[in-house]
Amino acid sequence: MTPSPIVIVTGGSRGIGRCIVERLQHDGFGVLFTHSSSDAEARELETALANGGPVVRALRADVADTGSAKRVFDAAEALGEVIGLVNNAGITGRLGPITQLDDAQLDQVLAVNLAGPIRLCREAARRWSGRDNAGRARIINISSVAARTGSPNEYVAYAATKAGLETLSIGLARELAPAGILVSAVSPGTVDTGIHARAGEPGRAQRVAARIPLGRPGQPEEIANAVAWLMSPEATYVTGTVINVAGGL
Ligand code: NAD
Repeated sequence: MTPSPIVIVTGGSRGIGRCIVERLQHDGFGVLFTHSSSDAEARELETALANGGPVVRALRADVADTGSAKRVFDAAEALGEVIGLVNNAGITGRLGPITQLDDAQLDQVLAVNLAGPIRLCREAARRWSGRDNAGRARIINISSVAARTGSPNEYVAYAATKAGLETLSIGLARELAPAGILVSAVSPGTVDTGIHARAGEPGRAQRVAARIPLGRPGQPEEIANAVAWLMSPEATYVTGTVINVAGGL
């Protein structure tokens, strides 16, 4: 049997990341997912996916830690040939106007949402550039429609990091095209996950439904569908693009 190619998914223990992990395994990829939350949550997912399908392993690794990109890639390479990176881990910081944004929160949002993904992209570029990628190597960055709405009075710093992530995707798509590495972003609107309660606004996903043209928040599976398509052989001519999965937002 040919070994399954491996995809790295950051922040895979819950929410959108968890659905991406489940979907990629279903589609025949092995997965190394990282998390910074409880080990129990990550182990539970690892056990649930020990189902005879491609390998799924959890690794506690803080994206904000400058040494973690190497550690993550080393752990993934121990499982097989790594052909994908999904930069999904992200935090909003506490909801509120910029006057209430403290330095510790600002540093954390920049480190998790932007500096960490840049380091992981750099690690992928260093490791994948010299090999024959055979049209399979992909980097997918999970952005947010906040990159374009700016999220005034809510989380402008978060929105700015997501705009940075989209620009990174566009630039790297061009820089890494000669190496056969495709880079795109998926930009969710409001999705029903625990991220809103963590930002101090439980129930937000339902409350903002009236602002969403399709009249409801997205489900994490709907974001995973777009990632699965970008990872698939159907997307071999797609790079440097941002796909909104936002119900028309
Ligand atoms: P979530 O809070 O449910 O899950 C976040 C995941 O990231 C968890 O697995 C957590 O362990 C991990 N994580 C957080 N900080 C980390 C760190 N420092 N190092 C490693 N892992 C870390 O969030 P979610 O709603 O599933 O969001 C996933 C992504 O989608 C984020 O990038 C978020 O910005 C983006 N997004 C979410 C929404 C939404 O409405 N939920 C909308 C637009 C974009």
